[in-house]
Amino acid sequence: MTIDAIVIGSGIGGLVTATQLAAKGAKVLVLERYLIPGGSAGYFERQGYRFDVGASMIFGLGQNGTTNLLTRALSAVKVSQEAIADPVQIHYHLPQGLDLKVDRVYEKFLQNLIAHFPHEDQGIRRFYDECQKVFKCLNSMDLLSLEEPRYLLRVFFQHPLACLGLAKYLPQNAGDVARRYIKDPQLLRFIDMECYCWSVVPSDMTPMINAGMVFSDRHYGGVNYPKGGVGQIAQKLVEGLEKAGGKIEYQARVTKIVTEQGKAVGVQLANGKVYRGKRIVSNATRWDTFEQLLPAEEMPHNEKKWQQNYQKSPSFLSLHIGVKESVLPAGTECHHILLEDWEKMTAAEGTVFVSIPTLLDSDLAPNGYHIIHAFTPHWIDDWKKLSPSEYEAKKEDAAWRIIDRLEKIFPGLDTGLDYLEVGTPRTHRRFLGRQDGTYGPIPRRKLRGLLNMPFNRTAIPGLYCVGDSTFPGQGLNAVAFSGFACAHRIAVDLGL
Ligand SMILES: Cc1cc2nc3c(=O)[nH]c(=O)nc-3n(C[C@H](O)[C@H](O)[C@H](O)COP(=O)(O)OP(=O)(O)OC[C@H]3O[C@@H](n4cnc5c(N)ncnc54)[C@H](O)[C@@H]3O)c2cc1C
Repeated sequence: MTIDAIVIGSGIGGLVTATQLAAKGAKVLVLERYLIPGGSAGYFERQGYRFDVGASMIFGLGQNGTTNLLTRALSAVKVSQEAIADPVQIHYHLPQGLDLKVDRVYEKFLQNLIAHFPHEDQGIRRFYDECQKVFKCLNSMDLLSLEEPRYLLRVFFQHPLACLGLAKYLPQNAGDVARRYIKDPQLLRFIDMECYCWSVVPSDMTPMINAGMVFSDRHYGGVNYPKGGVGQIAQKLVEGLEKAGGKIEYQARVTKIVTEQGKAVGVQLANGKVYRGKRIVSNATRWDTFEQLLPAEEMPHNEKKWQQNYQKSPSFLSLHIGVKESVLPAGTECHHILLEDWEKMTAAEGTVFVSIPTLLDSDLAPNGYHIIHAFTPHWIDDWKKLSPSEYEAKKEDAAWRIIDRLEKIFPGLDTGLDYLEVGTPRTHRRFLGRQDGTYGPIPRRKLRGLLNMPFNRTAIPGLYCVGDSTFPGQGLNAVAFSGFACAHRIAVDLGL
């Protein structure tokens, strides 16, 4: 069998590319180094608990519009995923008593925020309404490859105003738009946190296109939790891939992208096996792709330039906790963000992110217990050169510092603990195959919105990238977008 496309990695970006291509009749092979699919959207099981390794706040599982890309990717290969609506995106616990819930209902969220900043009533509405404008443009068109001129032309003629609207926002950052309408410094810090909690940079460096998407879709398609855990999305995509004739191999670590006369023609696995394909897609990060799978000394000029513009974000320290249900006060929401000092927002152990998916799907824990996944940024450099006992001691110290802080929102957490597993940047590097365990690329300095984020084609003919180091960036729905775009571009290139 001649393989049309070999996909390195079964993260959501890789799987959406693979399923889209298989649905168009291409012969697709996915090679995954780990035991199960999903990458950062995978799961693991311990003592009756099913933990999400990373993502738990899921966009893209809605039913309407065009931005529900996970729903669309699943249905393209005739599978579906039950989704449980989350009534509140985030419960913020911020400095100076800024305690606030982002309600699924837009007007309710605005009212909650305006109650804290009544003097900024107009500014708040104008900023978030402008985000809605971006979203309406995105949500009116099919989201495919921006590298395909005929698609761009078609979309432009079908939706000229939406296209012009998006072109206007493409070079802008959310912070600039916020500052046009809002003056209160504490409110601007809140907008920074609204961006930071998914882009891991403040609003000045967060592209307006991404902000428009997140700040609006949470009130449109909403945040929905996949029944059975986040890992189900990847499992279902694999089921659909196989139904459509595609194949996946696990424990298949690609060590090299094979090139001939400068063109990508295949891959080599750690066990020496070589596969050849018409097109090669890397779902590994750009750093892994161009420094590990290809010779670093031959890195194309545009990749060097990309590395000058973008750096690796920190990784995370993750606490996967099982607790007695009595620990959670009545009315506790699924997702929380905790910060005590604005100056520490971007620091290691500054912001703590918390997800309690069992509040939406109780089957993920034994009866009478809940899962708490708490994570906070950490750099791999702080976890290097430690002996095994030093590493364990450092993990334990860090975990208890976080648990102490969580006691403020969940009093009695310490005594209600049933299970605790701590992951570090080293764990993320090892199990997710991501250089330094990074969450993804972040701008080194203020850039012009999304203009510098690369699409799927690379300088190496036959090689494409997909996932969070391509347009439009991190997050499950974002990498699904990148997967749709990548498959679209390859299908056109292959004449499918
Ligand atoms: C702690 C944490 C919390 C998060 N929370 C959220 C959230 O709430 N909502 C949200 O939308 N997003 C969240 N994210 C981000 C989101 O999970 C990622 O942006 C997204 O899953 C990345 O998908 P991807 O396809 O780019 O790659 P990955 O998920 O990194 O998948 C890449 C795959 O490729 C495989 N691979 C790599 N190299 C090779 C190789 N050489 N050979 C074979 N296979 C290889 C890996 O094993 C992996 O399976 C979170 C991430 C983390 C880490």
